[in-house]
Amino acid sequence: MLPFEYFEPATLRRASSLLVKYGADARILNGGTDFMVRVRQHFWKPKYVVNIKKIKGLDHLTYSKNQGLRIGATATYGRVEADPVVRQRFGIVSASAVAVGGVQIRNLGTYIGNACNASPAADSTPTMVAMGAKVKIYGPNGARVIPIEELFAGVGRNTLQAGEIVTEIQLDTPPPNTGFIYIKHSPRSQMDISVVGVASVITLNPDNGRCVDARIALGAVGPTVFRAKKAEAILKGSELTGDVLSRAAIAAADESSPIGDVRAPAEYRKDMVGVLTRRATAYAFDMAKSGMDVRKQQAIAIELIT
Ligand SMILES: Cc1cc2nc3c(=O)[nH]c(=O)nc-3n(C[C@H](O)[C@H](O)[C@H](O)COP(=O)(O)OP(=O)(O)OC[C@H]3O[C@@H](n4cnc5c(N)ncnc54)[C@H](O)[C@@H]3O)c2cc1C
Repeated sequence: MLPFEYFEPATLRRASSLLVKYGADARILNGGTDFMVRVRQHFWKPKYVVNIKKIKGLDHLTYSKNQGLRIGATATYGRVEADPVVRQRFGIVSASAVAVGGVQIRNLGTYIGNACNASPAADSTPTMVAMGAKVKIYGPNGARVIPIEELFAGVGRNTLQAGEIVTEIQLDTPPPNTGFIYIKHSPRSQMDISVVGVASVITLNPDNGRCVDARIALGAVGPTVFRAKKAEAILKGSELTGDVLSRAAIAAADESSPIGDVRAPAEYRKDMVGVLTRRATAYAFDMAKSGMDVRKQQAIAIELIT
């Protein structure tokens, strides 16, 4: 590992000023699960490392009916996953952690580190994107809140400006008659990244059963995690018949632009976007129809490549 100067600021203000001062030579350290691998490989060569874990008030984890869920920057997957209130009131979120790494990784890594790392194959962000999450950002010019997908600029690149630190994820309580699932398609059930990831959220009008809102987020099949908006448009306002689900699945596959690599060829990934979008959307639709309280759902499927 190359040498670097290390800081443990106690306040956001100090952390931000260090990041401004050292600019591109500085990097934030959070759970370190991406950081350590990248730095050891000399892929990242920070000269100044700003550990944000000693900053008070960044590890919050709160749920209220009015405010929804707030996940602080340094709150680990493990903590969120195990929190009884989150499990009971926002099961979707604790379930989405299960797709990431293994227990050791989840005891260190964070949802916000996953989002800031901006990997297209990130496993917690499709859920967040599909659930309409926002992120709160502290910076030299004050705080701002943006939809989480606006954080992603490209493979491994985020849109944060000099001195900016993401402080929390904000998730509103989903409306009733909403169904959800995240499907991770991967060679192994743990400790491997996705070949394709699909999150689907469907909200129905209980009076006529039509889809009033659909949000589909795709992972590992483009330069960033992104919403399949053409597929969503086919679903919105429609009765979700088999034909409509199939048309949306084809649209999602068309919207994807995967690369081929050691994990899977591009054509395979594209085909699987169609297969998994249809499967995820049908599942979310059934769940929404059943009237199950979306806050209590633990909907995740890890589908192995056999
Ligand atoms: C063995 C192994 C298995 C893994 N498996 C998976 C997997 O299955 N799925 C998956 O999605 N990922 C996986 N990962 C990747 C990693 O665990 C996740 O991306 C994790 O969520 C990163 O969070 P962290 O807190 O450790 O971030 P760090 O490593 O500390 O930081 C990651 C990046 O985000 C920046 N950053 C962190 N916090 C902030 C902030 N608050 N504001 C601004 N920038 C910030 C850092 O500067 C750095 O550039 C795996 C990693 C390992 C080592």
